[in-house]
Amino acid sequence: MIKSLRWRLQIWHAAILGFAIAIFGTAFYVQLQRSTYGEMDLELLSGARVLEGSLRTLPPRMRDGERPLFPPPRSFENWPGDGRGPEHRLQNALQLPQLPMRGPLDTRPYFAVFNSEGELIRADPSDAIPAWTATRRAIEYRSVGRNREVLLRGPGETLILVGRDIHHHVARLRSWLVQLVGTGLGVLGLGLIGGWWLSGKTIRPIKQISETAGKINASNLSERIEIAGMDDELRALSTILNTMFGRLDSSFKRQSQFTADASHELRTPLAVLMSHCELALNRPRSAEEYKQTISTCQKAGARMKTLVEDLLTLARADEGKLEIERNQVDLQSIAIDAMALLKPLAAERQVEITIEGCPAPCQGDARRLSQVIANLLSNAIHYNKPGGEVILTTSQEGNQAVVSVRDSGCGIPSEALPHLFDRFYRVDEARSRQTGGSGLGLAICKSIIDAHEGSISVESKVEVGSVFKVQVPCSATV
Ligand code: ADP
Repeated sequence: MIKSLRWRLQIWHAAILGFAIAIFGTAFYVQLQRSTYGEMDLELLSGARVLEGSLRTLPPRMRDGERPLFPPPRSFENWPGDGRGPEHRLQNALQLPQLPMRGPLDTRPYFAVFNSEGELIRADPSDAIPAWTATRRAIEYRSVGRNREVLLRGPGETLILVGRDIHHHVARLRSWLVQLVGTGLGVLGLGLIGGWWLSGKTIRPIKQISETAGKINASNLSERIEIAGMDDELRALSTILNTMFGRLDSSFKRQSQFTADASHELRTPLAVLMSHCELALNRPRSAEEYKQTISTCQKAGARMKTLVEDLLTLARADEGKLEIERNQVDLQSIAIDAMALLKPLAAERQVEITIEGCPAPCQGDARRLSQVIANLLSNAIHYNKPGGEVILTTSQEGNQAVVSVRDSGCGIPSEALPHLFDRFYRVDEARSRQTGGSGLGLAICKSIIDAHEGSISVESKVEVGSVFKVQVPCSATV
């Protein structure tokens, strides 16, 4: 089995071209042969017809008497005499007309007339008398050696044979055949060379595609396939591959950015931990100072723990392994519980939280959904101003259970909105750090809601406030 596309194309091309040339050549040659023999046969037949006409002019007894016309001479008794012998008359009566001569090599035609018993009546020239043969049809053509002959049944069961040497016509046909085969092979050769060139040209872009794809690896994802001048089919393939390379590129970039961000986030609490430990070990400290140091280290450890847990959650979500229970839950009661949890923080920040709306049953994981609402509430409190308010609303929209968190906080600039759910993205880094945020909260919310096959969106106006809206599909039974 040939694996090369170019060779396979070439073989198919050769087979089709060869077949077409063979069919065309054969048809052409058959036509040539037919017309050559056809012309010849027509001439021989016209000669035979003249002889047939002459035979008809002979007296009946001569033509169809019980006895053969020639010999015996007795049968010429009733011959309308002109004074000369009957053989002479017969010779005069049966003359072959002048048949056209096509070239210097053309030979004179010959003829023979046989009576009903197969005996020769007359032949010209008389030196080469062809043999009588039985015929099945009124007109028959045959090739005998170098000659072409027509056999015509004449009056009174006579047989008229007219023939001619046609060997030079046959030789000319053969030479045409040789020329035709030579031309056919030439055309086939040219076609194959052209086909090889064409298939090479066709698969060149494929080579280019595979070369470019071969150059792409984890450290070099910026290469793209040059699609200018490509045919539509390969352009479509290249565009798909380029899009895929683009996605891989941005996914790799996100991955390394994520690793860099995660390391950066962990570095700060680690540095705090190390420096406090070093400071404490520098010289003997009082019990109060050790207590202070341990407390700081604990906070740094807690921050690292939260960060590592968040990263783990995101990694699981990326792998599709985020465990989501599918229970019948009510977003309203989850929201009430989350609100109760965050009430102390709200009070501390002088932010008022209220809840409104109706029960919103859906299928989901109460613990994960509570994590999402708590996160949104926590942000709404943190990025709010003293005296601000947060309104939690639950509702049912079609087949979706909806919870929205509206705050009267600082708002989010429109250019930041598309990146808000990206990992480690913070609008105001300094402010986020103050709140202890690492920029992973909304990314985790999105992963959890995606795993519920729901959606999360945001609308915001700077200095007016933001609204985060979460939609989770209801169960079919609801
Ligand atoms: P963080 O842990 O830093 O809060 P999030 O992923 O929860 O991370 O939020 C990402 C960023 O979005 C925050 O740093 C903050 O700048 C912005 N943000 C989130 N919620 C709000 C909100 N309710 N009002 C204003 N800005 C917000």
